[in-house]
This record gives sequence, structure tokens and C-alpha cells, in this order.
Amino acid sequence: MDPIKVTDALERPLRDLRISVIDRCNFRCQYCMPAEIFNESFKFLPREELLSYEEIERLAKIFAVLGVKKIRLTGGEPLLRKNLPYLVSQLSKIDGIEDIGLTTNGIFLKKYSKELKEAGLNRVNVSLDSMDDELFKKINGRNVGTKPVLEGIFAAREAGLGVKVNMVAKKGLNDSQILPMARFCKEEGLQLRYIEFMDVGSTNGWHLDNVITKNDILALLQQEFEFEPMEQDYFGEVAQRYRYAGTDTEVGFITSVSESFCGSCTRARLSAKGDLYTCLFNGNGHDIKSLVRSDLSDEAIRNHIIEIWNHRRDRYSDERTEGKIKHDGKIEMSYIGG
Ligand code: SAM
Ligand code: SF4
Ligand code: SF4
Repeated sequence: MDPIKVTDALERPLRDLRISVIDRCNFRCQYCMPAEIFNESFKFLPREELLSYEEIERLAKIFAVLGVKKIRLTGGEPLLRKNLPYLVSQLSKIDGIEDIGLTTNGIFLKKYSKELKEAGLNRVNVSLDSMDDELFKKINGRNVGTKPVLEGIFAAREAGLGVKVNMVAKKGLNDSQILPMARFCKEEGLQLRYIEFMDVGSTNGWHLDNVITKNDILALLQQEFEFEPMEQDYFGEVAQRYRYAGTDTEVGFITSVSESFCGSCTRARLSAKGDLYTCLFNGNGHDIKSLVRSDLSDEAIRNHIIEIWNHRRDRYSDERTEGKIKHDGKIEMSYIGG
């Protein structure tokens, strides 16, 4: 089949692939990997269980033929995986892949930004949930202040990477940081994205009462700033974007709880262990690693993926809005990477 016909075989587009390269992390963010659960006795995946770089590259080529244009590397903390720039350089050579991003807590960005950029990385999303050092130490559970993350952000920008800052806003935890984060990012001309606290996995003690919605945040920001709404850039864009009036600096909102966007979801997720998830909240992964480790051809693996994608009926966030959700068996954020 030529690439156009292969894309036609999908009932809905598949544009965006998130690949988790590792399930481990050097942080224990309360809303993601609470330290009480992810402690010394927690069993992370042994190395041989992770997809190898060769396997990831092969799968990325198969996904590219299916129409994937954007790849985002995530984790756990992706920069804990050895020689990540090598993987980026291999992925950047794949026909059809137009954009490679990385989501990171930023700790190792100072060290790797230049190398990652040279390898073909286009952009980084750096997670930072507080400008206040003490609060940030408490949130990340590892007593790490904001300094290394800020240095990472500046190093990434200096290296020529696109930089966005991600802030998960959780009521009772970092409400106080919504304005300081906006002030800092506006001042620095950095794009900030507020992410509504999501009910991923089953270990983060999620409750609807802890969600600060986009409307809450915007109302607060509007006390100090004036905004202009921006048009969607492309079908399937998840952020709702605004511009500070009279500037080029954007602020975005990921409204997965308050205004779900399942109808335009074009994203698949590959876990570090090689399971394919058709939704962030669907705990039933499809084992792709055993296919890659069998003697199946690329075409046969591709047909399996087409089959999985065409059977996809996920609309978890829409169902949450409609009050029809189950809370059991969901996949952890640290495992699938957001
Ligand atoms: N360790 C990297 C980092 O923190 O950026 C990459 C993996 S992390 C799981 C990916 C993204 O998910 C981060 O921006 C993080 O803030 C976000 N995240 C984690 N748990 C979340 C939750 N419960 N609700 C919303 N976003 C969450
Ligand atoms: Fe680690 Fe990222 Fe999860 Fe924080 S959000 S615990 S940095 S994987
Ligand atoms: Fe896509 Fe699932 Fe999120 Fe809906 S809940 S937007 S289907 S990942």
C-alpha cells in the first residue's frame, strides 16, 4: 500500500504519538507519583522490559506511514534514559515526522539542551508548578528548588529550542502560584500552559474539588492582565490559547476536565513497556512489544495498529463530563507520560 492508501485505512486521523521512554523519575510530584506509593519498595521496570531505541525507531517509522507527524518523548523523566539525543537523532530522520518534542521536569536540560537541539529536537515542555522555592520542594517531594529547572528553561531557549512551561494547578496546593507563574512567564516571553489537575491513574487521590478550572484561572489572571483569544492552529490542538494584549506571548489552558476535547483527539500513546494506549485514561494497553519482538513484518504490525485504532471508542473526558465514569484500572501518568 502506498502511504496515502494506508492513511485512508484509518477511520479517524492519528497524527500525534507520545512515547514514554522510561517509567522512572527523579521527582515524586504529589499529583503524579506520590512518594508514599512510589517508594523504595516500588518495582520499576527492569531495563530489558523497556522498548529499546531500535524498537522505538522501528515503531515510529510504522506510525509515520499511518500519518503521525508529531512525536513527543516523555516518561517518567525522559532525560533519565541514557543517550536520549541518539534516539532523537534517529527519529528526526524518519520521513513524515515534522516535529519532535520532549516533556521534562527540566533538571537535566542545562546539561543536554544543546545536544538535543543538534540531534533534531524542536521543542521542550518544562514542568514547573511554583515560583516559590519551598512550595516547589514540597510539590516535587525531592526537596529540589526552582533554580535547576529555571536554568534548564533558559538553557533550552539559549540552545534554540521552542520552550513551553507546564503548570498543573491543584486547589489547596499551588493556587497561590497562578499569578506569580504568569508574571514570570510574561516577563520572560515564555509560553505558559495551565493544566487542569486530572484523574489519571489511581494513586494521586484525585477529587473534582481539587480541580482549578480554566475559567477560574482566567478570571484570576484577568484581574491583572488583558487577553486576546487566539484561533486553533490545527485540528486536534489541545490547548485553548490566549495572547497577552499587545504582545506575542501566549498563555494556554489544557481543559481536559472542564471542557473535554475527545471528539478531536488524534493522539496515541506508547508506554515505556511497549503497550499502545488509545486514550490517556484507558487502562487497557495493547501489547505491541511482543509484536515487535516476534518475526512479524512491518506491514503486519501496521495492520495490527490499524485494527486497534479503528476499534477505538475512547471518550473518557467527555464521559466524565457526562457523569458516566469508572475510576478503576486506569493507567498511571508516570507510566504513560501525559
Ligand atoms: N517528567 C516529565 C515532566 O514532569 O514533565 C514528563 C512526564 S509527566 C507525567 C508529563 C506531564 O504530565 C507533566 O507536565 C506533568 O505536570 C503532567 N501531569 C502529571 N500528573 C498530572 C495530573 N494528575 N494532572 C495533570 N497533569 C499531570
Ligand atoms: Fe516525575 Fe514528571 Fe511525574 Fe513529576 S510529573 S513525578 S517530574 S513524571
Ligand atoms: Fe483523547 Fe482520551 Fe483525552 Fe478524550 S480522554 S481527549 S479520548 S486521551
